[in-house]
Amino acid sequence: MAADCLFCRIAAGEIPSDQVHSDDLVVAFRDIAPRAPTHILILPREHIPSAASLTEEHGPLLGRIFAVIAETARKEGIADSGYRIVSNVGRWGGQTVDHLHFHLMGGRPFTWPPG
Ligand code: AMP
Repeated sequence: MAADCLFCRIAAGEIPSDQVHSDDLVVAFRDIAPRAPTHILILPREHIPSAASLTEEHGPLLGRIFAVIAETARKEGIADSGYRIVSNVGRWGGQTVDHLHFHLMGGRPFTWPPG
């Protein structure tokens, strides 16, 4: 855990969140500033700065993350209509919290490409 990392502290329960999933590897909670009717962040408990730090060794962890995303989408009732999964990397990618996370967004249509 990185003591100065917001998402490490949320995952540890030190900062409250509207949690929708928690297991030994992964947590998911609602985004504090939702950009869609469903906007949930899914992240590893492990402090990984961004997708740019991922290696093949993270394969099982990523499998768990994507299984949680699919399960959460079903529970939120957005699986049939479709949804978007986004992970921003770095400043120009729009990343504002330096702890790997995936945005699960749904409940409305999205345009392509994103702005
Ligand atoms: P990104 O900009 O891709 O790094 O995503 C960070 C996301 O974290 C943004 O969508 C923020 O609205 C969200 N966020 C920031 N602080 C909190 C918080 N305390 N609880 C839930 N979501 C947060």
